[in-house]
Amino acid sequence: MSTLQNKMFQEIEDKEIFKQTQQFSLDYLENIFNRNVFPTEEAIDDLSKFDEEFPINSSDAKNVIAQLHKYGNPATTATLGGRYFGFVCGSALPVGLAAKSLGTFWDQSPSMNVLSPIGNKLETVVEKWFIELFNLPKNSSAGFVSGTSIANLCGLVAARYRILKNNNWDVNLKGLMGAPKIRIVTGKQAHSTVLKAIGMLGLGQENIEWVPVDDQGRIIPELIPKLDENTILILQAGNVNSGAFDDFESIYEKAKDANAWIHIDGAFGLWAGAVEKLKHLTKGMEKATSWAVDGHKTLNTPYDSGIILCADKEAMIAALQMSGSYIIESKERDSMFYTPEMSRRSRVIELWAILKYLGKEGVDEMVLTMHERAKLFAKELNKIPGFYIDNDVVFNQVIVRCNTDDLTERVLKKIQELRDCWLGGSAWQNKKVMRVSICSWATTEDDIHLSIASFKKALELKLM
Ligand SMILES: *Cc1c(COP(=O)(O)O)cnc(C)c1O
Repeated sequence: MSTLQNKMFQEIEDKEIFKQTQQFSLDYLENIFNRNVFPTEEAIDDLSKFDEEFPINSSDAKNVIAQLHKYGNPATTATLGGRYFGFVCGSALPVGLAAKSLGTFWDQSPSMNVLSPIGNKLETVVEKWFIELFNLPKNSSAGFVSGTSIANLCGLVAARYRILKNNNWDVNLKGLMGAPKIRIVTGKQAHSTVLKAIGMLGLGQENIEWVPVDDQGRIIPELIPKLDENTILILQAGNVNSGAFDDFESIYEKAKDANAWIHIDGAFGLWAGAVEKLKHLTKGMEKATSWAVDGHKTLNTPYDSGIILCADKEAMIAALQMSGSYIIESKERDSMFYTPEMSRRSRVIELWAILKYLGKEGVDEMVLTMHERAKLFAKELNKIPGFYIDNDVVFNQVIVRCNTDDLTERVLKKIQELRDCWLGGSAWQNKKVMRVSICSWATTEDDIHLSIASFKKALELKLM
């Protein structure tokens, strides 16, 4: 046996690195809820410790892990905690972290059933749960991807395949050169990952027929152009700034006779459809053809977890078809026909664990609490002269600004420097704004009050 092989068997036998890693992980979890939300300057400077030449020799595994812990841990952002309001991130449920670690040891790739029976079983089960939870057509399919960027891509891949197939054109064989034209209609506030997908698919962003939106970023249904069966209409559940939802019900009324493909980008917002008191926001969404949603945002699965749901299962599977003499197809699910990848990790493990743990009532309670915290944030901030809330807080997003663009930017920078909480900026209706996204299971009322105090302090410092 080679010495390297010996060394690795030894690492498994004495388990030291795993015990060490477990201890580091538990220490991390214990501190993350009280720690500075953004790393200190010192922690970021220390990242230069990683600027090494590629080593010649194999080293001690314990030292490798210890280096990650010593310099990596302090340079993380506390997205797991309750006061990270940047982008739309989401924390991770304890049961999800635990299931993910277990799944890490299994190291399964669910591409084919024969390669991972458990991976494919859990995907089949979770697919059924999603159909039920969101009240989707019974034969819909679910693909488990890295996030909504890829879920959007998959939805549009299936749409492209179906529309061209209906025109007697197999896009997988013939490509797009000389193909019948596909129309794309979407709102002016479509997420940039949708545009990225359109670009990647060769559909051309310049071909988009843009629909004007209202002051919350919602498509104005009356301004949607006449649709036809060669159109992909892309809607949104949860505007990335305001959290607003397109009016699916009225839009469907306009689209149904045209037989257009409706895709909904519901990265974080689709989850409103699983909450009794918020369901009105997604009314009519079940009439679409494909839906992209994240696990790692609102549902708080660990990264990376996105789901593409599709009512036209046949189009999805045909669009993502692949074969080879060595491939073994089963009568059950073979997950590589539902996603662009062949090999990938079995990310459904932690998704299943979280859904099993929460149940319908747990999902309802967790997501509704995020909404309530966002309302509280807006209410408390409204009491402080000098801050303005610029959106209707219908879900979990709050848009905040000060009197001038300049002041908004300087206050935001100060809030970031204080590190009690973290959020980013954006532009909204031609003004600079700060965006607060509340999407962690761990955000308490105290976290809101503490963050409001930090906003107040930052404004006072900047007005001095
Ligand atoms: C975050 C987001 C995306 C992209 O999702 P990823 O999981 O980051 O790939 C797409 N659309 C909307 C509305 C989003 O909020």
